[in-house]
Amino acid sequence: MQEHVVGEVMTNNAARRYFSTDNSIFTLTPSVIVYPKNENDVRKTARFTWQLAERNRIISITARGSGTDLSGAAIGSGIMMAFPAHLNHVQYFDSKEGIVVVEAGLNFGKLQQLLLGYGRFLPPAPASLEYSTVGGAVANNTSSMRSFKYGDMRNYVRGLRVVLANGEVIETGKLTKKELNRKLGLTTFEGEIYRSVDTLLEENKEIIGKSIINVTKNVAGYDLVDIKQNDGSFDLTPLFVGSQGTLGLITEITLDSDIVPNDTTLVVAYLESIQDVQSAVLSLRDLKELPNAIELVDANLLAYVSSINANYLKDVIAPPYPKFVLLIEVANDKEHKQKKLIKIIQKTLSKLTQSIVIEEDSDKQKIIWKLRDASSLLSGHIEGHLSPIPLIDDGIVPVDKLAALIDSIYHQFTKEHLQVAIWGHAGDGNLHVQPYLNLGQVGDRQKAFRMLEEYNRQLRELGGSTTGQYNDGRLRAPYLDKLYSEDVYKLFQKIKTIFDPYGTLNPGVKINVSLDEIKPLVRNEYSIDHIYDHLPLS
Ligand SMILES: Cc1cc2nc3c(=O)[nH]c(=O)nc-3n(C[C@H](O)[C@H](O)[C@H](O)COP(=O)(O)OP(=O)(O)OC[C@H]3O[C@@H](n4cnc5c(N)ncnc54)[C@H](O)[C@@H]3O)c2cc1C
Repeated sequence: MQEHVVGEVMTNNAARRYFSTDNSIFTLTPSVIVYPKNENDVRKTARFTWQLAERNRIISITARGSGTDLSGAAIGSGIMMAFPAHLNHVQYFDSKEGIVVVEAGLNFGKLQQLLLGYGRFLPPAPASLEYSTVGGAVANNTSSMRSFKYGDMRNYVRGLRVVLANGEVIETGKLTKKELNRKLGLTTFEGEIYRSVDTLLEENKEIIGKSIINVTKNVAGYDLVDIKQNDGSFDLTPLFVGSQGTLGLITEITLDSDIVPNDTTLVVAYLESIQDVQSAVLSLRDLKELPNAIELVDANLLAYVSSINANYLKDVIAPPYPKFVLLIEVANDKEHKQKKLIKIIQKTLSKLTQSIVIEEDSDKQKIIWKLRDASSLLSGHIEGHLSPIPLIDDGIVPVDKLAALIDSIYHQFTKEHLQVAIWGHAGDGNLHVQPYLNLGQVGDRQKAFRMLEEYNRQLRELGGSTTGQYNDGRLRAPYLDKLYSEDVYKLFQKIKTIFDPYGTLNPGVKINVSLDEIKPLVRNEYSIDHIYDHLPLS
């Protein structure tokens, strides 16, 4: 391979070990690492594996950004294709329109800095932005607390350059009916894909229509809903976004951005019951103009973080902690509208609590946000052999089921004799929670899978999805067929086969994955230290 690609190819044990973990609970060692220097290297590698597959030798390719993935999607046993080493440039930036074209391996934080310099930003930036790539964010369809108002990554991707499984390069974007017809007539693999996807969509309209889960964001499975519009326009972009490298290798991304909102105001409400949290969120969602974000932390998180670091919350809040804290960020370009909105929010919340703080000063807001940032202290804290495990940390439910979700999480942790702390995007019904477990112990591994099973069952019963932002990966993939109907799951399988007939693109992720396959891959220890030195070895 080294003779065929310009970038580096590595097979030494240190490099392979380095890429054998992402930020999930799994481990899988790659055979070889390729650091593509340019798109041609990506093409040649894909072509190489395709030709071997034609002769019944399957070598997989796993696209790798920075490996911060929490679902086990950035590891694989074949070729690890590390994008950030070289494919990390901004290709084009129109600061007026806010359109930016970047290579997939560009660090997300660097892109955000560039945009902020022009008063713009990408709202669905993950909390891991300093350590992760734009390509990873697109492939996972990330979202953030401000996705409540602005939507997820899918909303910002205008088009992609993608290397297909056979090494062909395609450009995606919105096509008119006429342009689609031209694609349908191509004799290439691209043409085959357009014909097969179009037929699949046309023949299964009813099944696809029924596949929508009633939540505000959902990254489980493949997005079959947004490809073809009623006006006949067609776009493969939403299908690639969130597909975790299982359909193609993204080399270039065209993105929209948003204007950074003017001064924000932070409204903080202290609430004493789960039901009040749900009522508050439902009322806030009904407002004519939505807040930027509605975030939640519970008293357990605050107490736990204070026990780890007594000073951390000293300047923000003192015990006894309220059972729940809602943090509501509001921004409107017009000052009088902003004031009006805050008054409405205050009135709405005052039916549920008298403990409301309104903060306009941006420095003071930063201090208050420590309440929410406390979760990262918990995620990074290890107690002996016990680590907070990303296991059941991304469920999302319809917002009128938020109280039931919180209740069921508390119940589940009590049943397992575990400490519980909840935080997350209450406005979207998307909560995070991480049990402290020792994955080196058989008992805790069994507990982990018992909890995973039970949690995913609860989410289904509540009409939710197993993943609002972290995606299926290996961790949630075994539950995808239960989450959707059999008919829908079959369509997902067909999509995978259309794009990846030999199964060379990130197999073992998202689709056709069983619990028996993932259980042996669980690591003995877990920590997120990896994130801090996660630079490609090149
Ligand atoms: C502390 C922490 C906080 C986090 N916060 C958030 C958050 O707020 N919101 C959120 O949504 N997620 C969050 N995540 C999850 C994760 O960081 C994001 O999904 C991130 O965008 C992944 O980027 P990455 O570069 O690390 O991708 P990787 O982990 O390397 O890869 C992720 C997936 O994308 C695929 N991929 C990567 N590059 C390409 C490419 N060029 N072509 C095709 N497929 C590709 C990989 O195969 C894999 O399936 C967090 C993770 C951690 C550890």
